[in-house]
Amino acid sequence: MFRIGCHLSSSGGYLAMGRTAEKLGANVFQFFTRNPRGGAARAIDENDIASFLSFASERGIDRLLAHAPYTLNACAEKAHLREFARETMADDIRRMEYLPGNMYNFHPGSHVGQGAELGVSLIADTLNSVLSPDQTTVVLLETMAGKGSELGGKFEELRAIIDAVELDGKLGVCLDTCHVYDAGYDIRGDLDGVLEEFDAVVGPERLRAIHLNDSKNPFGSHKDRHEKIGAGSLGLETFERIINHPRLRDLPFYLETPNEPDGYAEEIALLRSLRSSALLNN
Ligand code: FE
Ligand code: FE
Ligand code: ZN
Repeated sequence: MFRIGCHLSSSGGYLAMGRTAEKLGANVFQFFTRNPRGGAARAIDENDIASFLSFASERGIDRLLAHAPYTLNACAEKAHLREFARETMADDIRRMEYLPGNMYNFHPGSHVGQGAELGVSLIADTLNSVLSPDQTTVVLLETMAGKGSELGGKFEELRAIIDAVELDGKLGVCLDTCHVYDAGYDIRGDLDGVLEEFDAVVGPERLRAIHLNDSKNPFGSHKDRHEKIGAGSLGLETFERIINHPRLRDLPFYLETPNEPDGYAEEIALLRSLRSSALLNN
């Protein structure tokens, strides 16, 4: 099944997101767990969650991807910032357990001059303190553009974090197409080669979700500016290959392109039209 969706505003709650997803032609979606700049989350509304869960199962909506605030830095130099990241992630994971079996994505962090090695170990410390054996939520490390001292721009860094986490069975990776291309992985010219490298370094079973974004900047720019599908340096054919690639086609795809809801509906329809209809697939 083609699982395709986009980032949605969570301000109206889960049922509202489910209804919006359906309207846009999406069967998966992503949302921020709270204001993307951080701060308090909405109170848990168990009625909204129950209504959403029945709506979602009726309409075939699944694979929710919660996104942590992008201001969290699990490897900040200041202890209070790391503590804030730890508390926020612990609270987000606890809240995601109301929607069992979904995913929680975060940006690994920026080591801000402390060095990649210390950064990796601080991120692993955070994960070791927030993961629990009984959680059903899979926590995803997002591949990053490698802007400044950002970690996660190299597959080796993701591997090093995973290796230092005890409950690594709770971890996966979300591959962001804009980020990896900006980071210097040529998914436009050599998608197979990049996936082989990912599998060799991180491991094939870790890849759980794809952020579909074109890039405003050229290959290897380390910039992280998303563009509409087909309007950037990756180009439409790259996305056609990605969504149909045997290694990727069964993963959920989430658009994070600069769009209002109508634009997302158009991109979803466009991607559906590019999805090859091989026998037994759709
Ligand atoms: Fe992200
Ligand atoms: Fe992303
Ligand atoms: Zn980005």
